[in-house]
Amino acid sequence: MRFLVKNNLLVPLRESKNSLPISQIPVIPQPPLNPAFPYNVHLQLLLTGKQLLMDDVPFSLEEIQKHYENGYITYRKGIDYRRNHPICSRCGNMAENWFARFPCARCGEICLYCRKCLMMGRISACTPLLGWNGRAPNHHLPENIRGWKGKLSVGQQTASNRVVETVRNMKELLVWAVCGAGKTEVLFAGIETALRAERRVCIATPRTDVVLELTPRLKTAFPDISVASLFGGSEDRHLYAPLTIATTHQLLRFHHAFDTIILDEVDAFPYTAEESLQYAAVHARKPVSAMIYLTATPNEKWQRECRTGKRAFTTIPARFHRHPLPIPSFTWCGNWQKQLKKEKLPANVLHWIKERLENNKQALLFFPHILLMEKALPILRKLAPEIESVHAEDPDRKNKVQKMRNKEIPLLLTTTILERGVTFPNIDVAVVGAEDDIFTESALVQIAGRAGRSKEFPNGVVTFFHYGKTEAMLKARKQITAMNREGVRKGLIDG
Ligand SMILES: [Zn+2]
Ligand SMILES: [Zn+2]
Repeated sequence: MRFLVKNNLLVPLRESKNSLPISQIPVIPQPPLNPAFPYNVHLQLLLTGKQLLMDDVPFSLEEIQKHYENGYITYRKGIDYRRNHPICSRCGNMAENWFARFPCARCGEICLYCRKCLMMGRISACTPLLGWNGRAPNHHLPENIRGWKGKLSVGQQTASNRVVETVRNMKELLVWAVCGAGKTEVLFAGIETALRAERRVCIATPRTDVVLELTPRLKTAFPDISVASLFGGSEDRHLYAPLTIATTHQLLRFHHAFDTIILDEVDAFPYTAEESLQYAAVHARKPVSAMIYLTATPNEKWQRECRTGKRAFTTIPARFHRHPLPIPSFTWCGNWQKQLKKEKLPANVLHWIKERLENNKQALLFFPHILLMEKALPILRKLAPEIESVHAEDPDRKNKVQKMRNKEIPLLLTTTILERGVTFPNIDVAVVGAEDDIFTESALVQIAGRAGRSKEFPNGVVTFFHYGKTEAMLKARKQITAMNREGVRKGLIDG
C-alpha cells in the first residue's frame, strides 16, 4: 500500500504519484481520539491488543481509515529502519539474510519483506500493522471466577502465593517446579487475581499439544470466563477473551495486549532457539505487566541468576505425591553405535529391556537420532513384535502415544520428542547414548522426570546408558538430587 501525508493525516492512495510505502514515511501521524465517534465494536474486539495485517481485518479500507482519522486505529510500519537497517516490527528480525525482495503489486515497487514471520502473513515495506487506540472492550465478570476448588500441596501453595503477589505487583517471577509438581494448579489463584482486577491474562507455551491439553483444564477451572485457545489454524483466532492460551508463535499477532503473561517451558525448543519468539513475548505484554516464567529445568544462565539473587524465583522441589524424584543411574555400554551397525545392541541394554518385558513393566527408550533408533527397532521387535518407535515427524505419533497409554505397547523407542509434556503413569526410562550433545542437562532432567509420575507408582528406574559420561549427565543428576534434598528439608517429601 501507498500513503500520502496530508493535513497531518495518513491517507491511502492508489496511484504512486506523491505517495510512499509506509516504511518511507518519516513519522506516522496519530490523530487524537474523537470521543463522539461511533466506533465499530467488532473492530474494537478484533484489534484490541493486536497488530494485524489489512488482510486479517475483514472490514473495508474506508471504514478502517475512518477509525484511524478519528483516532481509534493506529497504523504502524511493518518494517522500520534503524540506521538504515531494516527491522521487522512484528517479529524483531534484523538479520539481513532473513529479508528478501519481491515485485510487489500493492506498492508497485520492488518491496522488502521479512521471511522470518512469513507464516503469519507477509510483512513488507509497504505493510501497515493495524492496532487499536480506543478503550478496551468491557470485561463482564461473573460472580464466581474460579470453579476449581482442589487442594494444593504445601509446595504448590507456597508457589501459588508468590504467583498471586507477583501478579498483583506487576513483577516478574520464575516458578522452578520439578516434573510432576503440578504446576498448572499453581497458576489458578494468580489467574483469578488478575481476572478479578479486570486484567487480561495469557498463558503461552511452545507446543500446540500443550495448548490443546490446557484448554479444557482452564475452561473447567474458570467455567464462566471466555477462553481463547490459539494455535496455527485454530478457530478462536479473532476471539477477544480475558483469558488466552496460545502457542508462543501466536503472540506475534499481539501488541501490548496482556497485563499478565505466563510463559510455560521457557527453556524448551523453540522458545530458546528463536529470538523472534522472545521478542514476541516481550511485545505482547503491556509496558506495565506481570510475567511468570515456568520451567522444570532453567538453563545455566537462569540458574546462576537465581543463585546470585538477580532473578526472583520460587521452587517446588517435590512432586505433589510427596515421593522423591527418581535418580538416574549411569551405565557404560561401550560403542553402541558400532554395535548397531552390526545389527546388535550392547548386552547390558538388551538385558535391561528383557527384564522389563518379562516383568510387564512399560518403558521408554530414548535415542539421540532417528536413524539409530530405526536400526534398533527390528532388533527389539524380535523380543516383542508390539514394540514401536516414534519421532517428531511421525504421522502416527498421537496414535502411538495413545497405544502406549492403553498399555498396548510394552516398550516405546523415542527421540527427544517425548522428553516432556507426556505422562505415562508407571514406566521405567532409559537413554541409549546419553553422551550425545542433544541430551543437554535440561533434556536429561526432563527425561528422568518421565518416571514415577503417579501416586500409585511413585518409583521408576532411570538408566543412562553411555559411552563416556558428560558434564550434562553429571549436572542433570546433581540438579535432581539437589531438588530432592531441598524437598526433604522443606518437609515436602515423606521418607
Ligand atoms: Zn509493497
Ligand atoms: Zn518478521
